[in-house]
Amino acid sequence: MSFSSLGLSEQLVRATTDQGYETPSPIQAQAIPAVLSGRDVMAAAQTGTGKTAGFTLPLLQRLGENPRTGKGPRALILTPTRELAAQVHDSVNLYSKYVPTKAAVVFGGVKINPQMIKLRKGLDVLVATPGRLMDLYQQNAVRFNEVEILVLDEADRMLDMGFIRDIRKILALLPARRQNLLFSATFSNEIRTLAEGLLDNPVQVEVATRNTTAEKVKQSVYPVDQSQKTALLSKLVRDNSWEQVLVFTRTKHGANRLTQKLEKDGITAAAIHGNKSQGARTRALADFKAGEVRVLVATDIAARGLDIKQLPQVVNFELPNVPEDYVHRIGRTGRAGESGHAMSLVSADEGKLLAGIERLIKKQLPRKEVEGFEPTNNLPLKPKVKADPARARTRSSNGGGNGRPGGKPKSFGGRPGGRSGGRSQSGDGQRSRPAQRQSA
Ligand code: AMP
Repeated sequence: MSFSSLGLSEQLVRATTDQGYETPSPIQAQAIPAVLSGRDVMAAAQTGTGKTAGFTLPLLQRLGENPRTGKGPRALILTPTRELAAQVHDSVNLYSKYVPTKAAVVFGGVKINPQMIKLRKGLDVLVATPGRLMDLYQQNAVRFNEVEILVLDEADRMLDMGFIRDIRKILALLPARRQNLLFSATFSNEIRTLAEGLLDNPVQVEVATRNTTAEKVKQSVYPVDQSQKTALLSKLVRDNSWEQVLVFTRTKHGANRLTQKLEKDGITAAAIHGNKSQGARTRALADFKAGEVRVLVATDIAARGLDIKQLPQVVNFELPNVPEDYVHRIGRTGRAGESGHAMSLVSADEGKLLAGIERLIKKQLPRKEVEGFEPTNNLPLKPKVKADPARARTRSSNGGGNGRPGGKPKSFGGRPGGRSGGRSQSGDGQRSRPAQRQSA
């Protein structure tokens, strides 16, 4: 199968070839023809499956069928986080290289005026986070009367982050006749209700189910007292000569504290979370990608959507409150046929969280004690790991790798030497998320 056999124009196919894509990913193979047909689409897809190209390529083709007559936007792509918005915008620019479509991105945390100027100049595709988009609308900087296509990307996260009211306000402002595309990693009742009100007889896109953590990812648990975690992390970074490690904490405050302690210990580190200005977040990510910062400390939501290629290791400094977030977190490593290592520093008070994770992934994680860091309170060594049928309902996609080791061409699965199944970043099925999440 090729991109042109899916019905994409020569210009769009050329843009994918430039990216080194050999074949469409499973989600692309299904979503592209569906979007091209003009139908509404409801897709189960996570970051890393190639979903962005899955909606962007056919969207560009459909917009290209007619010229823009007003200032636009003609396509609106809503994303939950600033980072994801920036990333989707980058992708739109890459894929629209050979077509005349103009795109822009708007999100909060940065000055609004330059965004107003951009919008005034006219554009076809607008990528936006809901809050800032509403601000711009209220200031008469954007109108929605020309919107032909709406994309809700990572809809589940948008609801988790409390954007439902903004989304509903925006929906009410859009022209009734339009194409709607909804992408979500999971389908809770809330998402289904949203989908029912939004989508008209949608094509459902779903690829093979899988609910396990990435196969290539080696996982281990380091039992350690809470007070010793920072020292153990420093030791692991040093002893293993890690040059790039993503570390997760539960809170923004915890991320800041850990970053400071690591820096004091002579290990370059930066934090990325919702209380940081957009500039600081972008800088932290750029420094990390460039290898100038060894440790990037992130909260769950801030990490969502980060496309960091070839991450060899991920450390859970604290376990997440929601077991599914563990799967998201470790999906950041072991990409595209590379092997990765996910380590969790677990103190006795996190025993319950660990048991919840092991129940979800249906596997007991090996414990590794480090000499000098043996905990005073032991973790339960043999938790009961039983399949939980409610959680076993899967609708996640398998498929693609994210970054690949610089080597082109890129391929999603099935390639000799590549990985066969691909990463299942989340693989979680129905999940209901408690409301205590922090903001990104
Ligand atoms: P996404 O799931 O949209 O965040 O995409 C994940 C990664 O897969 C991005 O780095 C894309 O550049 C890459 N990608 C998208 N489509 C393909 C494809 N057909 N073949 C290989 N890589 C792809």
